[in-house]
Amino acid sequence: MKIDLQDTFTSELPADPNLENTRRQVAEACFSYATPKKTTKPELIHISNEMAEHLGFDATTIKTQEFLNIVTGNAIIEDSKPYAMCYGGHQFGNWAGQLGDGRAINLGEIVHNNKRWALQLKGAGETPYSRTADGLAVLRSSIREYLLSEAMQHLGIPTTRALSLSLSGDKVLRDVLYNGNPEYEKGAIVARVAPSFLRFGNFEIFSSRQDYKTLETLVNYTIKHFYPHLEQNSKDGYIQFFKEVSERTLKMIIEWQRVGFVHGVMNTDNMSILGLTIDYGPYGWLEGYEPSWTPNTTDRQHKRYRFENQPNIGLWNLYQLANALYPLIEDAEPFEEILEDYKINYATGYLKMMRNKIGLISLDDNDPELLSSLEEALQLTETDMTIFFRNLGSIHKEDSISTAIEKIHDAFYTPEDLKEDILEKWQAWFATYLQRLQQEIISDLERKTKMNAVNPKYVLRNYMAQLAIDKANEKDYSLIDTFYQLLKSPYDEQTNYEEWFAKRPDWARNKVGCSMLSCSS
Ligand code: AMP
Ligand code: MG
Repeated sequence: MKIDLQDTFTSELPADPNLENTRRQVAEACFSYATPKKTTKPELIHISNEMAEHLGFDATTIKTQEFLNIVTGNAIIEDSKPYAMCYGGHQFGNWAGQLGDGRAINLGEIVHNNKRWALQLKGAGETPYSRTADGLAVLRSSIREYLLSEAMQHLGIPTTRALSLSLSGDKVLRDVLYNGNPEYEKGAIVARVAPSFLRFGNFEIFSSRQDYKTLETLVNYTIKHFYPHLEQNSKDGYIQFFKEVSERTLKMIIEWQRVGFVHGVMNTDNMSILGLTIDYGPYGWLEGYEPSWTPNTTDRQHKRYRFENQPNIGLWNLYQLANALYPLIEDAEPFEEILEDYKINYATGYLKMMRNKIGLISLDDNDPELLSSLEEALQLTETDMTIFFRNLGSIHKEDSISTAIEKIHDAFYTPEDLKEDILEKWQAWFATYLQRLQQEIISDLERKTKMNAVNPKYVLRNYMAQLAIDKANEKDYSLIDTFYQLLKSPYDEQTNYEEWFAKRPDWARNKVGCSMLSCSS
């Protein structure tokens, strides 16, 4: 099988001259060569046909043993020199030094239909950046990453993609809750795809070492390939570059807030320089609308990465990137302006997004208040975010308050808790909302169509991912395919999948993997 690679990363950026695989600090280099580890019994579990097509792999190719070998690291693409990238990062607010691709190995860049894609294996064994870990990944976290990267794409949210999910056939030792109970789990490998996997941390590492030469080389490379409309090799271009990264980051985070996605580990090494959602770890979806919720048990104490804090963290991370780029510009003002704009644009962007969610097209000065009172009401009793907003689209302008409440009633987890005072608050909110809808000139049906396009009916609820994982552990991969298919059209009514438009079942409320996740993967 001949795969045409055109690897700009390794041909245009400085390489680590040391070819050994020993764990080390790597200076003045953007990457180190690394060879994927051979696995005992590679087995393909699922493939994204859509992604395969984007890469130019036809239906026959993806069925071959050679394809399987390549996406599991058991065969190297002809003429390719796999590599791991060097990056650092701020983890939970602290500079963590060199991190790098500890278990991700890049196979190279494939150009197809004028698009360039970097192909990367996650869980393919040790690299110079593996630190104290094994370079491997387990099945549960790989299923989560595989399914959601494709699902996010279909939700219209910028993301890295996934080509395939495979078992390695090897066992991997993990202590899921970090409480001294390590167990062997099935090893897995996800073949991930993105125009680039560069992160904020790739830039921070050189700045932290005052290696401004490599920093500049990397910035020039990034602009040339991924921001080609900007001026190259100039301070103005660098400022524009930072501005665009800032705008893309904000856009991505507003999209997360729209659908109730909580990334869980927004460290700067997990922030894509292209504004893509990257590194799916202990992420989760808001079920009950609870702004202070985080799925990540490792972050339970401070909840730094809780839902409501994601926009702030995006900004904080951009400050770190600004600091990293500063030596190339030596003028703080443009950075400050861009970061100031982030705050302003967040406020307006968030408002616009929320207005869309409740179907408001005309403008009214009282809308911010209407929305904040809605956010308060949603927290009075556990209320399912996805179901609430989806069902809100069914409301007619002429509905009575009680009919309107009836229509969103399914979103309440414990309707018996709707005590009189809570019900009164909802009645008051719907009274204002129904009145507000009178100002809208479009029909109920048109409004519903617009609302359905921003309020997904189906998301990969935490318990759904866990169900797919539990079955996969028993060698039944049917739910992976079910969810893969279902989540291709998250905004559509899909009558055959109606059972997944449902609140989280009670058994999943406090279950590991559903409401509690750790970074262990
Ligand atoms: P994460 O929290 O998954 O974003 O990972 C943070 C850093 O740890 C990155 O440099 C990863 O490559 C590295 N890392 C995470 N898990 C492993 C592992 N099992 N083996 C080697 N490196 C890892
Ligand atoms: Mg990461």
